[in-house]
Amino acid sequence: MKDRAEVVIIGAGINGCALAYELAKRGKDVVVLEKHYICYGATGRCGAGIRQQWATKENALLAKKSVEIFERLSEELGYDIGLRQGGYLIAIHDEEEMRQAKKNVEMQRSIGLPVKIISPDEIKEIAPILDPEGMEAIAATFCPTDGHANPFKTTYAYARAAKKLGAKIYKFTEVKDIKVKDGKVEEVVTNRGKIKTKYVVNAAGAWSKEIAKMVGINMPNKPVRKEALVTEPIERLFDCMVISFKHGIYFSQQEEGQILGGIPSPEEKIGYYTEPTFSFLKHMAYMLGKYAPPLKHINILRQWTGFYDVTPDALPILGETNIEGFIQCNGFSGHGFMIAPMVAKLLAQLICQEKLDMPIDRLSMERFKGKITKEKAVVG
Ligand SMILES: Cc1cc2nc3c(=O)[nH]c(=O)nc-3n(C[C@H](O)[C@H](O)[C@H](O)COP(=O)(O)OP(=O)(O)OC[C@H]3O[C@@H](n4cnc5c(N)ncnc54)[C@H](O)[C@@H]3O)c2cc1C
Repeated sequence: MKDRAEVVIIGAGINGCALAYELAKRGKDVVVLEKHYICYGATGRCGAGIRQQWATKENALLAKKSVEIFERLSEELGYDIGLRQGGYLIAIHDEEEMRQAKKNVEMQRSIGLPVKIISPDEIKEIAPILDPEGMEAIAATFCPTDGHANPFKTTYAYARAAKKLGAKIYKFTEVKDIKVKDGKVEEVVTNRGKIKTKYVVNAAGAWSKEIAKMVGINMPNKPVRKEALVTEPIERLFDCMVISFKHGIYFSQQEEGQILGGIPSPEEKIGYYTEPTFSFLKHMAYMLGKYAPPLKHINILRQWTGFYDVTPDALPILGETNIEGFIQCNGFSGHGFMIAPMVAKLLAQLICQEKLDMPIDRLSMERFKGKITKEKAVVG
């Protein structure tokens, strides 16, 4: 293992690998340290939905600019990431949700997103298997450029491209400590040796809080266990991701035909709990049948758990801290796959002292000192 690198990234999920690529592309000497293997964390357990329909402009812009990158990523990285843009259909259940949806759509359209509010009949036109009555939907919003990519292929494509440009990714290498001298990061201590560095990027997902503690930073993030399932593959029935903020459900049909989705478990827990629950399976199966009756009799193949790294306002924590060289890239609260391409680009610009494509100051930890505005468009 190298004993020196200009930038050390902790965590080889989508964010760590995408950032390694963006930095290597800019000629930086980068090392990624991963305590298990690429995609071990939330990235390898996620729905990998890509949604631009957010309530806050920060999330909407990060997602929109990421979609622009996703659209050319297979070509740029030289590997097919499995991007499919079948849209996101978000159920609207009552007048209160309709008021919020109208506000969201107005903001989303103002930044150029082709979002619209659709009727129950249009819901059925887009996805005939859906039952608006069973969904308890009075309408929905729909953005056709939203979609889905394969999280493994995307992350490995970034990792492979980063390595080709000289980045090193050390698997089974756990960060145990970070040495700080005169308010600056100096060295990262791992189970396989030490690395002197100028920048440490905390891209450790649900474990980011533990990493931040190593430099004396106390973060408000909480690891929350989330469950997901996948069914047997079936003939293609629909192309969009279906979600509901009220019910917390999301599901889509994968490229190979399986239905993949999740819903908050009745036994949802904060902390590093990894056991899957039967109550999740029962609840998800029941709700899936209500939303899409033809899926009632489909066989479930597998269920699993993963962590959301949840912040108090459901917005990520990005950028510099009061420890010089210690950069945050975490707090993605359940949507860190879809915004990773733009987050990586922005943090690479920050580290390379380039002009940022969009400001990220409002996403630093400083915001928690004042009144925060919670992102309302969260699911699961
Ligand atoms: C069930 C589920 C469904 C989801 N669905 C979606 C979705 O549809 N769309 C979307 O955008 N997002 C979704 N998410 C959220 C998304 O998966 C995450 O926000 C995103 O993958 C975070 O990526 P990351 O690279 O920041 O972190 P992670 O993928 O969690 O990677 C962090 C890595 O850091 C490593 N690490 C931790 N501590 C150390 C240490 N001390 N030393 C070395 N390495 C360490 C871990 O092993 C891990 O591999 C979902 C999440 C879950 C759990």
